[in-house]
Amino acid sequence: MEHREALQARYREERDKRVRPDGNAQYRQPSGRFASLLDDPFTPRAERAPRSDDVTVAIIGAGFGGLCTGARLRQAGIDDFLLIDGAGGVGGTWYWNRYPGAMCDTAAMVYLPLLDEVDTVPSAKYIPAHEIHAHAQRIATTFGLDDRALLSTEVTALDWADRRERWIISTDRGDTLTARFVAMGTGPLHRAKLPAIAELDRFGGPMFHTSRWDWELTGGDPTGAPMTGLAGLRVGLVGTGATAVQCVPPLAETAAHLFVFQRTPSSIDVRNNHPIDATWFAELGEGWQRDWLLNFATLQTGGFTDVDLVQDGWTDIAKRIRDRVVTAVTEGAEFTPETVQRAYEDSDDEKMDEIRARVDAIVADPATAEALKPWYRQLCKRPCFHDEYLQAFNRPNVTLVDTDGAGVDRADERGLWVGERHIELDVVVLASGFEVGTEYARRCGYETTGRDGITLSQRWSDGMVSLHGMHVAGFPNLFILGMSQGANLISNITHNLSEAATTAATIIAAALSTGASTVEVTPEAEAAWIERLESSGRAFLGNPDCTPGYYNNEGGAIGRRERLGASGYPDGPVAFFHYIDAWRRSGEFAGLHFAASASTDTSGAQR
Ligand code: NDP
Repeated sequence: MEHREALQARYREERDKRVRPDGNAQYRQPSGRFASLLDDPFTPRAERAPRSDDVTVAIIGAGFGGLCTGARLRQAGIDDFLLIDGAGGVGGTWYWNRYPGAMCDTAAMVYLPLLDEVDTVPSAKYIPAHEIHAHAQRIATTFGLDDRALLSTEVTALDWADRRERWIISTDRGDTLTARFVAMGTGPLHRAKLPAIAELDRFGGPMFHTSRWDWELTGGDPTGAPMTGLAGLRVGLVGTGATAVQCVPPLAETAAHLFVFQRTPSSIDVRNNHPIDATWFAELGEGWQRDWLLNFATLQTGGFTDVDLVQDGWTDIAKRIRDRVVTAVTEGAEFTPETVQRAYEDSDDEKMDEIRARVDAIVADPATAEALKPWYRQLCKRPCFHDEYLQAFNRPNVTLVDTDGAGVDRADERGLWVGERHIELDVVVLASGFEVGTEYARRCGYETTGRDGITLSQRWSDGMVSLHGMHVAGFPNLFILGMSQGANLISNITHNLSEAATTAATIIAAALSTGASTVEVTPEAEAAWIERLESSGRAFLGNPDCTPGYYNNEGGAIGRRERLGASGYPDGPVAFFHYIDAWRRSGEFAGLHFAASASTDTSGAQR
């Protein structure tokens, strides 16, 4: 059998083992013993009186999307806003995810938003979570956002009051806040989910999710102090996704024994981290980050540039595909989707062979090495990059418990069961990820109700619809800060968010300067955008042969709903960034309808 056919057969076999009838519905929401998973263990909750502020802009979510929006509002001279977050501090995902070893796989030079506007010098190409969190805090300080922050405050409902032309924001503090405009940056991976392990809550020892790390129990801290509290303990880590891959090395160093429960191995490519020279950094010219961002996005999506500024695993695979297409066309092949597909498959086979060979080269025990090899195309799951993960399995105190695609079956008071094998544990850590693809309101924690009592969940019951991923008809003055139906650049989420922040702030400033009280996408513009997205079929979804994961609806059916949620600008992220920049600069805001009051219309173009 040819190598390609053998690979495909193996990929299908591994996939078939893992597809389950309950697909995405297998995961459990935190309740009962796990209800506290939604609480904030990092900041004590201080009681306060309910508030009733009326502000020009409410920003929900103090992660990078919300922080960048606050910064851009300040720069536009709009100071009357509130930055609301359930967390006790700013930083979003970097506030919550403080697990040991946490860091970002996307290079700091492009991942950290506003890096050329804020006084941060990244210590290394890839920096740890606490440094990223500090950068978020520095954005808040630089732009005076702390004064405008309403933290430890969970939004519970968002309702449009048509007559008042205001959003009413209810919270778990009993607040009734009102805002003319609302920007929602609630994050794509916000709500923790639990694995489908029978009787999980029977486990008698401590058990927590990685996004609420129990530092009191483990000892140590997020900056790398050793977790002395784990000395003498048997720790079970459930999951081997991007989070678990980062947790394993520090856990391996401190636990008496670490058992890593694996359902599907991640692909672990080289990271090659290195320090950043502060002198070199200081000499980067003004506005350097825009060049870096576009350079990375261009190369990562198959384009051409003179240099590869970032040079990492993300650009590597894309450059391989691109160069193969160029070679094929130079040698006489026609530039067709088939030529591109062949180049993609050849590059992917080569890359995944390298990744599997790397496992053999690092992991000493042949059976463990075999179990750690990923048998799927690289972008079926979130690619991982690490230089200490595989090495950890050579330690005598680390055991890979491979479940051959089946997952952990059940728990009892003393540990976990995989088939007939029982593993005794003192502590269980769940690295089971976050909800994707479930109802929007459930994921962000509140329902949004627009005109005529229509909720966003109802509006999106057959799939997301929007203009640019930001504006939804029937939801005036609402700005969604995300990536779907916009650039949809998955390799650098913050690039999507910082652009969205600039767009939202620009529109709000335009509305205020012209006396418009509402801004809303017209149903026609929304429909035309969706038609445009659907006609191109560009969506970030693993192909149907992929092993299940959140990139492909956990192996379930991929219909219009899933495609809509994962779709992006037809000509790709870089084209979108240029498109949206021109759209903003034109001042026309084509597709939006600005109204001076509930009854007086002025179209965006005629304002
Ligand atoms: P994931 O959803 O990627 O991983 C969850 C893990 O739990 C998977 O390995 C899954 O296995 C496993 N699992 C689920 N159920 C069971 C079960 N019953 N038994 C055993 N294992 C089970 O979550 P992560 O938190 O790892 O990552 C989420 C996302 O967060 C990433 O994809 C990435 O986008 C982001 N992230 C980014 C980082 C960065 O560097 N920028 C770092 C960390 C996370 P299976 O694969 O079979 O489903």
